[in-house]
Amino acid sequence: MSDWNIDQAEELYGVNRWGAGYFSIGENGNIQIRPNHRLPDVTIDMKEVVDEIISEGIQFPAVIRFHDILRSQVEIINETFGKLIADANYQGQYCGVFPIKVNQMREVVEEIMDAGEPYNYGLEAGSKPELMAVMAYNDNPDALTILNGYKDKDYLTLALLGRQLKRKMIIVIEKFSELEMLIPLAKQMGVEPMIGLRSKMMVKSSGKWASSSGDRAKFGLSIAEILNVIERLREEDMLHCAKLLHFHIGSQLSDIRKIKEAVNEGARLYAKLVQEGVPLEYLDIGGGLGIDYDGTSTTSDSSRNYSTEEYVADVVWGVKQICDLEQVPHPNLVSESGRAMTAHHSCVVTNIVGEMKPAGTQFDISASENEHILVKNMRELHSSGDQFHPQERYNDAAGYKQNAYEAFKLGILSLSEMAKLDTMYWQILTDIHHSLDKDSYVIQELEELEDMLASQYLCNFSVFQSAADTWAIGQVLPVVPISRLNEQPEVRCSIVDITCDSDGKLSKYIEGTEISDNIPMHSLRKGEDYHVGLFLTGAYQDVMGDMHNLFGRLTEVHVYCHDDEPGDFYIEEVVPGTSAEKVLQTMQYNTEYMAKTVKKQIDRQVRKGSLAPREGVRWTNFYEHCLAGSTYLRVE
Ligand SMILES: *Cc1c(COP(=O)(O)O)cnc(C)c1O
Repeated sequence: MSDWNIDQAEELYGVNRWGAGYFSIGENGNIQIRPNHRLPDVTIDMKEVVDEIISEGIQFPAVIRFHDILRSQVEIINETFGKLIADANYQGQYCGVFPIKVNQMREVVEEIMDAGEPYNYGLEAGSKPELMAVMAYNDNPDALTILNGYKDKDYLTLALLGRQLKRKMIIVIEKFSELEMLIPLAKQMGVEPMIGLRSKMMVKSSGKWASSSGDRAKFGLSIAEILNVIERLREEDMLHCAKLLHFHIGSQLSDIRKIKEAVNEGARLYAKLVQEGVPLEYLDIGGGLGIDYDGTSTTSDSSRNYSTEEYVADVVWGVKQICDLEQVPHPNLVSESGRAMTAHHSCVVTNIVGEMKPAGTQFDISASENEHILVKNMRELHSSGDQFHPQERYNDAAGYKQNAYEAFKLGILSLSEMAKLDTMYWQILTDIHHSLDKDSYVIQELEELEDMLASQYLCNFSVFQSAADTWAIGQVLPVVPISRLNEQPEVRCSIVDITCDSDGKLSKYIEGTEISDNIPMHSLRKGEDYHVGLFLTGAYQDVMGDMHNLFGRLTEVHVYCHDDEPGDFYIEEVVPGTSAEKVLQTMQYNTEYMAKTVKKQIDRQVRKGSLAPREGVRWTNFYEHCLAGSTYLRVE
C-alpha cells in the first residue's frame, strides 16, 4: 500500500492517454485540468471545483462544463487546418461548421460561435428545430450554415428566408424530391438558394456508425441521382446555385485508412463534377473525427489510430493531390466535426452513495444441533483452509450451494440454514481468491471469481440520462475518482446507477490498456464523500439522455479559467437540474392537482384525529418541497 504512487494511478486509469492534454493526475492525487491549450501553466484542481460546488450548497450529480476546453478545441481544429493549408500551398480555405445535434445546449453553441468567430466558423443543422436555432445563433454573414437532414416545405422556406437575410445557408439535397420542392419555392420567393449535394458514398466505414455509408445508406444521392439533380438544375437555369458537395461516412471513424479512402472518393467526385461544368466551391467532408475514449490509440470502436493533425493533413493533401491531377481548382474545405469539438469539455461528477458486496452480509454461522448434512459439508469445506487445490474447493463449494438450493425448494432446508450456507459459501470464495497468486497460471473458471466478488458501487446518477451510449452501443467512457489517486484503490467494483433497471450500470472500464468488467476504486470512508468523474461526456451523451425513471437533466456548473482567481477558475453560472415537478409535468401530470390531492388525504386524517394539525401542515409542506426538489438522491 505504501509504495503506491500517482504513476501507478496513471498506469491504471490512463488519464493522460485519453485526456488529450486537458486532464492529468496531480502530485496531490487529484485530477488536474489544463483547460486552455494556449496557457499550459493554468491548471485547475478538480477537487477544488468540487469543494466549491459543495460549499455553494449544490447537490451532485452535476455536469461540469469547462468552457475553455470547448474554445481550445475550436481553435485547434481551425488553426490546424490553417497551418496545413499554408504548408501545402492549398488554394482553398477552411470553413468549418459545428453540427449542433452533437450538443445543442445554448451555452455550448454560443461559446463555439464566439471562439470560432475569428475563423468564420459556422453551424450545421439536421432538423427543423435545429435550423431554427442556427438561424438565430449564426449571425456571422461570412460563416456557413449547412442544412442537412430530411426537409419539408417549412424547412426549405426557412432556409430561403435565411438567404434573404444574407446568410450563407447551404441547403444540402438528401433526396431528389427535396429539389422538386425547392425549385418552385425559390422561384416563388425570388431567392437564389445555395445548394449542396449529399453523396451516398461507396466507401464502407467501420465501427458503430458503418451504416452511414454504402449503397443501403439512409442518406444521400447515388451518382446517378446526382447527375439527375445536375440535369434538373440545368433545365431550370439554376446550375450556378450548386455550390457544395457533401459526404459523411459515419461518426467516430477509428481507422485513418477509411478517412483517406473517403477523401479520395469525395475529391474525385468533386473534380469530375467540376469538369462537367458544375461550379462547386466547397467540399464538405462531414464529421467522423474520432475521440480516443479508451486511450488505446487503436482501431477499437472507442478509440482512433490517428491524431487530429494527421486527419487534417490527409484531408488537405488528399484533396489537393486529386484536384491537381484532375486540373480543377482546390475547393474550400468544410468539415462538420461535432464529437471532436465537444467530447472533452464536459464531465459528470457524482458521489458514490453505497456499496453492495456479494460476500458482505454476514450471518452467524456457528453450528447448531441437528444441522442438515449440507450445512455440515459446507462448514467442513469452510474450515479446510488450503488443504485442497483451489479448483477443488471451488467446485465443492459450488456443488454444495447448488444442492442446498434444490433442498430449499423442496422445503428441506430452513431459512437460517440457507443463510449460514450462503455466508460460508461467499467466505470460501473470498478465501480462494486471496490464496490465488496473481501472476501464476489460473484456471479459467477461477478467473470469474474476481467478477463474482467485485463490489457494486451505487452511484448517484442515471446511465440513461448521462451515459446513454455506454448502454446503447457499448461505448467506453473513462471513470476515475476525482481525488485519492495517490492512495492504492483496493476495492474491485462495478458502478451501478440509481434507476430501477438492471441495465443501469457501467459495464466496461478502462484498466491499463485493457477493457475490464470492473475497476479498482478506493474503499469508502464513513462520513467522507467519494466523488467520481465520468469523463468525455460532452458529445451526444450530454443531450441524448432520456427520462427513464423520471430523473431528468442534471444540475450544470459552468467553469471558466482565470489566472487571477484563486485556483485559476471561477464558476460562472449554475443551471439547476430538472425538478421533480418539471419532470412530472413533461409526462402530463398536473403537479398542483397532485399537491392538492395529497393535502386532501392529509386533511382527512387530521379530521379523523390520526394526525395532529401541525403535523398535517408539515407533511403538506414536505410534499410540496419534494416536488420542487431534485430528482436525484439527496446526500446529507
Ligand atoms: C452526426 C453528423 C455529424 C457529426 O459527426 P461527428 O462524428 O460527431 O463529428 C456531421 N455531419 C452529419 C451530416 C452528421 O449527421
